[in-house]
Amino acid sequence: MTAIRANNIALGELTTIGVGGVPAELIVAKTRDELIESAREVWATGEDWFLLGGGSNVVIADSPSELHVIKVENKGIERLGQGHLRVQAGENWDDFVAHCVEHGLGGVESLSGIPGTVGAAPVQNIGAYGQEIAEVFVRLEFLDYASGDLQILEKADLEFGYRDSILKHGKLGVITWVEFQLLADLPAGSTELMKRRRIEVLEQRASKGMVLNENDRDTHSCGSFFTNPIVSASFARSLPQDAPAWPMDEDAERVKLSAAWLIEQSGVRKGLQLGSSNAGISTKHALAITNRGGATAKEIAELARFVQERVAATFGINLIPEPSFIAF
Ligand SMILES: Cc1cc2nc3c(=O)[nH]c(=O)nc-3n(C[C@H](O)[C@H](O)[C@H](O)COP(=O)(O)OP(=O)(O)OC[C@H]3O[C@@H](n4cnc5c(N)ncnc54)[C@H](O)[C@@H]3O)c2cc1C
Repeated sequence: MTAIRANNIALGELTTIGVGGVPAELIVAKTRDELIESAREVWATGEDWFLLGGGSNVVIADSPSELHVIKVENKGIERLGQGHLRVQAGENWDDFVAHCVEHGLGGVESLSGIPGTVGAAPVQNIGAYGQEIAEVFVRLEFLDYASGDLQILEKADLEFGYRDSILKHGKLGVITWVEFQLLADLPAGSTELMKRRRIEVLEQRASKGMVLNENDRDTHSCGSFFTNPIVSASFARSLPQDAPAWPMDEDAERVKLSAAWLIEQSGVRKGLQLGSSNAGISTKHALAITNRGGATAKEIAELARFVQERVAATFGINLIPEPSFIAF
């Protein structure tokens, strides 16, 4: 089988924030082998390329006309042992969480409702409500762009951090599958508790516009647009006393601040739109930049820059965007 090639599809149709123009080429890979073959073919041309999963953490430019895009759609969950699963990269993340909860496997139930694919999850070490993927991650298969080789990357190789891994620092390539070790053999009643936890998390997320819903413009976003800044404790003491801060290590020398709090306190209110721009701050959560309908990538980027400038001018803090900007 060979991968499907499509032309004239605007990438905005494949991203949750709904921006991104028509690329030079869109290749849809439905199996691991197609994924590997497509990547090798595109790399051999020397053209610009990009790997697209569920499109929930990317802002793609309005004219990515030079870009060759490979969409990851290989699916499947394989049981290798007690709670030890190998999951194909194109599997939907939340379907995988639902599968784990249903089979009484613990460790990802609080990550319910995060959009996107399993293959993208290690890239920024997805996390929410006290859990992150690093805790259950074992290894992944990686087609390395630099060498062209297939590699197995173990947990230590990934250098996971807060919304971070080596894959955000220049290690380029394709994740084809990911292995997880979930908690198995849990005491009686655990499955029910996990099912309840999943429902609770989905409800909390929905109230903040953090579960995809076609009819709710607040969810036409990339989720949190900025990471929570990590600063020295002495810098944090220079901020207003009510600024939320969480210790990052035992001696609390580094602390994590709330990007949402900094944004609101710098005067950027929920629902804000600049002039006639169709990009807006979510009406439910100051940390999400949303497409109110017909926004361009340029408008999204302008609003992001405005937020960064306000926070920098008010607090001297440079907010770092969480999504990747592609073809800008
Ligand atoms: C409403 C909403 C809520 C969100 N909530 C959270 C949250 O609570 N916590 C959280 O951590 N994130 C959250 N996110 C962000 C996002 O869901 C995650 O980052 C997710 O893992 C992105 O998956 P994706 O498949 O959509 O990746 P994409 O957006 O398609 O890609 C993201 C990056 O990963 C790369 N990539 C994708 N697939 C592969 C692969 N197979 N191999 C190598 N690289 C790959 C891409 O090239 C790109 O650089 C949220 C987003 C939205 C829209």
